[in-house]
Amino acid sequence: MAKAVGRKCSICNHPQRSEIDKALVTRSTSYRNVSERYGVSVGALSRHKANHLPRLVEAAKACEAAQAVTSGVALMDELDSLLNRALAILEAAEGSGQLKVALQAIREARECIKTCADLAVTAELEERVEELEELIEQREGLRRA
Ligand SMILES: [Zn+2]
Repeated sequence: MAKAVGRKCSICNHPQRSEIDKALVTRSTSYRNVSERYGVSVGALSRHKANHLPRLVEAAKACEAAQAVTSGVALMDELDSLLNRALAILEAAEGSGQLKVALQAIREARECIKTCADLAVTAELEERVEELEELIEQREGLRRA
């Protein structure tokens, strides 16, 4: 019944996983707060984030970093909300095994980050885009396999 083998992460198996993931992705609250609110350990949270959340989390961080150095605040807010939506779609699509939808969501997130990069060109953001390209190639490989 379980799709993943040997999945013992208390966050992955948590009934409110998507809410926890969202808190981790958007960094809207601290580990300690998430830990207390959902009754999970801080260690489990950081392990889950490091090993189980997609690397898009890092991309979201890069987007925030770009936001910090750009004065076009309204536009960056818009991009940020687009990126969060793409991430939410990705999460849902992956959870239900819809790789094609997940792939589309990754592409949307990539576009958002590329736009961030245009607004605040940094080498770091370019790296994030490259990571996303790799992720897309992996997914496409999966689909062809
Ligand atoms: Zn996990």
